[in-house]
Amino acid sequence: MSDAAPAATSGRRLRALDAVSVERLHRATPKKVAALKTLGIATVLDLLTTYPRRYLDRTRKLDVVDLDVGDEVTILATVASVTTRTTRQGRSMVEATVTDASGALSVVFFNQPWRVKQLGEGTLALFFGKVGDYRGGRQMANPVVDVVALSPDDHVSDKMLRIVPIYPTSGKVRLTSLDFGELIDEALTRAGVFEDPLPEPIRSSLDLCDRTTAMVQIHRPASVEFQQAARRRLAFDELLRLQLALQLRRAVIDDEALGIVHERCRDVAQGSSTPGFARALLEQLPFPLTQAQDRVLREILGDLSSNQPMHRLLQGDVGSGKTVVALLALLAVIDGGYQGALMVPTEVLAEQHAQSLRSLCAGLTIPRSDGLFADQPFEVALLTSKTPASERRRLLSGLADGSVSLVVGTHALLSDGVSFAHLGLAVIDEQHRFGVEQRAALRAKGRGADGSGRDPDLLVMTATPIPRTAAMVLFGDLDRSVIDVLPPGRTPIVTTWASTPLLEEAAWESVRRAIASGRQAYVVCPLVEASATLDVTAVTEEVERLAAQELAGLRLGLLHGQMRADERRIVMEAFRSGALDVLVATTVIEVGVDVPNATVMVIEDAARFGIAQLHQLRGRVGRGAHASQCFLLGDAPTTDATRRLRALEASTDGFELAEVDLDLRGEGTILGARQRGESDLALASLARDGDLIDAANVAAVALCRDFPFLVGLEGLADELRLLLDAEEADFLFKS
Ligand code: ADP
Ligand code: MG
Repeated sequence: MSDAAPAATSGRRLRALDAVSVERLHRATPKKVAALKTLGIATVLDLLTTYPRRYLDRTRKLDVVDLDVGDEVTILATVASVTTRTTRQGRSMVEATVTDASGALSVVFFNQPWRVKQLGEGTLALFFGKVGDYRGGRQMANPVVDVVALSPDDHVSDKMLRIVPIYPTSGKVRLTSLDFGELIDEALTRAGVFEDPLPEPIRSSLDLCDRTTAMVQIHRPASVEFQQAARRRLAFDELLRLQLALQLRRAVIDDEALGIVHERCRDVAQGSSTPGFARALLEQLPFPLTQAQDRVLREILGDLSSNQPMHRLLQGDVGSGKTVVALLALLAVIDGGYQGALMVPTEVLAEQHAQSLRSLCAGLTIPRSDGLFADQPFEVALLTSKTPASERRRLLSGLADGSVSLVVGTHALLSDGVSFAHLGLAVIDEQHRFGVEQRAALRAKGRGADGSGRDPDLLVMTATPIPRTAAMVLFGDLDRSVIDVLPPGRTPIVTTWASTPLLEEAAWESVRRAIASGRQAYVVCPLVEASATLDVTAVTEEVERLAAQELAGLRLGLLHGQMRADERRIVMEAFRSGALDVLVATTVIEVGVDVPNATVMVIEDAARFGIAQLHQLRGRVGRGAHASQCFLLGDAPTTDATRRLRALEASTDGFELAEVDLDLRGEGTILGARQRGESDLALASLARDGDLIDAANVAAVALCRDFPFLVGLEGLADELRLLLDAEEADFLFKS
């Protein structure tokens, strides 16, 4: 075996099958074609990449007669009779008696009247559910049903495999798993041997089976072991394609773009004493950087002083001190004569950030080189859609002529009127709220504005920790830095889920006690209505209720997203200065609010929030030296909600919580953050396939290094095109 031998070139390419309509299959009757269409299957490739949802291992046969109450099982049985009626509560109920050779079982469905049609007499189906006890008899209620065959005629049981693949045919589509399997059979037979696009050395070093075996065994497994080997191979292929797309995108950008070499950043990194804002800030900070901040700052400065544009993701839990690090990087860039921009998702956050940057920068001055005037104080500009017209005009011209060197803003920074004289570094905070395009748009704002044709550097930050595996898949095209420790002196937040009225009363008592001892508190009300106006009413009423009851006698303030910026500022200022005891707010305080004296967070109706959001909200307290508490109010309507609230009680580690979140929500929601992803991962799982994700990443890096732009690996390039939309494929393969 020679190393890096190109892939075998014999066999059929997947892409060729994408050009073949399912109508071309002999067994595809017009009815079946129509049914396939409702499942989104138009081509033979679609068909073959619709993998079984699960398998029934008939080698471990379960007889109906052996079932015990409490068993959760899958049984293969024939419908002997089916009836429908309305219960006394007015619910529709379908009851079927199903039998296998050993005996009979009652199966009932509530509020699924269409089951009568689906489960006609003689239908052979799999029923998955829990065996319950109904008036002394065994009964399965609302099982998951997979129709295997419609009538005993097409139930040719010896034709069935020992391991029966169950396809995702839905109950309402007149296409059984057996039909589906037959179509797959035909497609596999006629497709013959598949080209294996993966170079042999990678395949054997990872002990992956070949593509043809994988395609056959995923659909027609000879054994559980074969099925698992097939899944592993095909899951790897999915992950490899994603990683290759990310690596290629990275390569194209790096290949084309020239970055700015920020010389001054090298000075700062090396600790040289060249005076400048960055150095001055480091010296005037009231605290030393944590080791993690220092390490991450060096990583960033290293990127900034190289001639390739930086694309770096900075992850760090709420309060870990990302802002300071970003500010130091911005100042180092500004020291070199460039401009810096910080873009955030909301106005509240923009105001908060502008404020905290201003206070960190207080005392820094611009030394006037001409010596004509006294030093000017360093300006942190703020640009949002609410910026008054005259101020906006002043800012825009300042950004265009370079006299404004640091701007904080919202999407307003992307608007047409905004241009930079020489943008050197763009920082995006809470980047999950922005799309990939907005990232690109901000970078484009700076590109070559000064005629140099060089790309500004880009740092994106997130306080929403995502599991490492998800980060690899979502942000594989970014370098990643993690601030993994909190600044010292923080006392861990004690979180209590106050699920009963008694516990709730205790929570309010804690609020009153904290305030009596000089601390402050937040109360967060979730948005409940579809309309912002109604929500404002709801939160306003809640303030009045609290003022009359639980928090009577305390000074309450109200903050919500519909308030004008200046109104909000007044309230925030009052809270910050201690003129208010309690800030009752909607989730506008989710990010960025920093009042160390606030030590209690009460989140009403907490089950309405997701883990990440609750963790973010909780991060508003625990910012000072005093011990902090968080109370989650309300009960949990679902077991998932219970697990979420329990997880928050148990852990304050954002990464640990992110793992729980991934586990609870599945990857769909995480990958949904990026347009692609979910549909590209039919088999691979972020939660389970961490090792494969690593392997795919390593393989993709190696392949892109050994075969630049995949020249020489046409099979893989060809498959990648399947995944990319035409525009992106052009972009990546334009050579
Ligand atoms: P993040 O943006 O990661 O949520 P911030 O940068 O807002 O965190 O920092 C949170 C708080 O911690 C701020 O009040 C900040 O001044 C303070 N802080 C940051 N770094 C340190 C440090 N090394 N030591 C002590 N306090 C710090
Ligand atoms: Mg922050």
